[in-house]
Amino acid sequence: MGKTLSETSLDELRRSLSGSVIGPADEDYDAARRSYNALIDRRPAVIARCMGTGDVAAAFDFARAHDLEVAVRGGGHNPAGHCVCDGGLVIDLSLMRTVEVNEGARIARSDGGATWLDFDSATQAFGLVTPGGVVVSTGVAGLSLGGGIGHLTAQYGLTCDHIIGAELVTPGGEVVHASAGENAELLWGLRGGGGNFGVVTRLNFRLHPLTHVVGGRLVYRGAGVRDALRRFRDIVTRSPRDLSCQASLAIDESLTPILEIVPCYTGSDTDPDDLRTLRSAPGLIEDSVHAHIFLDQQRVIDSAYGENRHYWKGHFVRELPDELLDELLRRIVVLGRPPGGIMVESLHGAPKDADVPPGAVGFRQAAFNVSALAVWQDPLLDTEQINWARETAAAVEPWSFSGGGYVNYMQADEPIERVRATFGAETFDRLQKLKRQYDPHNILRRNQNIPPF
Ligand SMILES: Cc1cc2nc3c(=O)[nH]c(=O)nc-3n(C[C@H](O)[C@H](O)[C@H](O)COP(=O)(O)OP(=O)(O)OC[C@H]3O[C@@H](n4cnc5c(N)ncnc54)[C@H](O)[C@@H]3O)c2cc1C
Repeated sequence: MGKTLSETSLDELRRSLSGSVIGPADEDYDAARRSYNALIDRRPAVIARCMGTGDVAAAFDFARAHDLEVAVRGGGHNPAGHCVCDGGLVIDLSLMRTVEVNEGARIARSDGGATWLDFDSATQAFGLVTPGGVVVSTGVAGLSLGGGIGHLTAQYGLTCDHIIGAELVTPGGEVVHASAGENAELLWGLRGGGGNFGVVTRLNFRLHPLTHVVGGRLVYRGAGVRDALRRFRDIVTRSPRDLSCQASLAIDESLTPILEIVPCYTGSDTDPDDLRTLRSAPGLIEDSVHAHIFLDQQRVIDSAYGENRHYWKGHFVRELPDELLDELLRRIVVLGRPPGGIMVESLHGAPKDADVPPGAVGFRQAAFNVSALAVWQDPLLDTEQINWARETAAAVEPWSFSGGGYVNYMQADEPIERVRATFGAETFDRLQKLKRQYDPHNILRRNQNIPPF
């Protein structure tokens, strides 16, 4: 279960932190312990809202002295609920959200708790962008450290490919920097290896000039969904470099299939062929695709925080043949009730550019990420919904790229073999070596874990 701390112990931590300390008796405790996934209901002994590297080191010291498990909270979106632990200490970075931009050098310096709204607002003020996540309340660090797929993946690549520097506090309390010239192996590990090596208090990102895109959503319903889904597959398989595209299957209240396609086009054509092909598919019931500023594209997808129960499971796949598309259409009907779905993210374009992989991330050569997203509210549906996600992932598995899944979407019950398969054995061994160097006692284990041994 974990521990309960006395008020005297909490006061001891309060005195050593410039940020704030929240204990179970505090008014804001319930809000502070909430995670994105309402399936996760954990009660930490203490939440340390840190203001900088000194606070993070003090929080690690305190956890060590009181023998507390540690969880790290960035944006609080990981569906596994790794940002909170029962009876332990949460290192909460939500007060550390400054993003500074060096316009000339095209570099952003982001604090460890910044969200994509913080990041995009700061960088777009200079007409600059890094390919990030599609929901603006998601944490920059959590998303980037696990890979990062979004509206600009085809154009610029994965978010983690844009990390060029980092500042971390290791569980031993040491402040470490990583860049191409300093601890380059750690920089490699941070590009996909998750929060395994330390608490990241700062990440530096490369930026690209971009202000406007053509985007929004195309929604199809009923019999036309099959054709629209195939068109989506055919278009992205041709790998257009100026069009990122995601698709989500769902069902409405009458259990009729719905397909939502979210394109993001950055080319110069005023009426791009690919968008015309998508728009002319049968069953289109909503078309909000138009030219708008990038910040508006980042608002196309939203998601309620902490209100729904979630269980996500999926596979990177080598291809999306008709047979698999038909299987997905069968599985979405089996879901039996809204609001869950099956998300298909294309990895075409820039992720494949690197000759020598610049980071640990293991999925860049996959064609798509296919994820069953069970979403519900009634606890009585837990078993049904979890089984649906597991069975849907099992149906996708024959097309799996590596047997692994996306660490950023994994639940906490995934076995270590799945995490290893995600990276591949050689990369996993290299990550374990880094883990032994920076977190030999596996203090940071509430994550998609890379154990030191
Ligand atoms: C609604 C929603 C939308 C999403 N959209 C996308 C998307 O578009 N693209 C995509 O690729 N992924 C997406 N994800 C997945 C997301 O990238 C991961 O869940 C990610 O872990 C969330 O990071 P966070 O900081 O918000 O989460 P948290 O739950 O706060 O953190 C998750 C884990 O990340 C690590 N971590 C976070 N911050 C730090 C830090 N500063 N230092 C060290 N470790 C840290 C810790 O291990 C922590 O337990 C989405 C998830 C949700 C729920």
